[in-house]
Amino acid sequence: MHEEDNSSCCCGGHAEGAGSGPEKRLGWHEYFMSVAHLISRRATCTRGHIGAVIVRDHNILSTGYNGAPSGMPHCNDTNCRIYRSTHPDGTVEENCVNTIHAEINAIAQAAKHGVSIKDADIYITASPCIHCLKVLINVGIRTIYYDKPYKIEHIAELLRLSGVRLVNVPSEQP
Ligand SMILES: [Zn+2]
Ligand SMILES: [Zn+2]
Repeated sequence: MHEEDNSSCCCGGHAEGAGSGPEKRLGWHEYFMSVAHLISRRATCTRGHIGAVIVRDHNILSTGYNGAPSGMPHCNDTNCRIYRSTHPDGTVEENCVNTIHAEINAIAQAAKHGVSIKDADIYITASPCIHCLKVLINVGIRTIYYDKPYKIEHIAELLRLSGVRLVNVPSEQP
């Protein structure tokens, strides 16, 4: 007894079958977070590679990654220049003085080209630092989707007071 395989559909896919099913279509969150990860690969600060995508109505309005201002030497050529700051809760954090964060670069790109980002959302490969969150609030971002958590305890109060939503969209990428 042998049945002919006639389950192929007109687009070349198969209705079912071990490992040969049609590729799963990306959902919107997965799609924009994947773009943020791709963009992070342009980052130049050796302290971390972050990507950000500003989105409204399923359209990408602006993108950014962390790195030095345009035309300035990048950290991966000249090394990071680290400064330390102490949070009011006593924790000490280190940042790179050369670098503009990905979220701010995405906002700067929108400003440069006259793109309104009011009432938009942002996808970031890591949750924002408190300084970027303050700017995201003021440009009218409604929801922040992030992959990896970064010191969320430092932004919890500001999130609560501002009403900006922070939503985890974990990716399968490393
Ligand atoms: Zn750096
Ligand atoms: Zn930041």
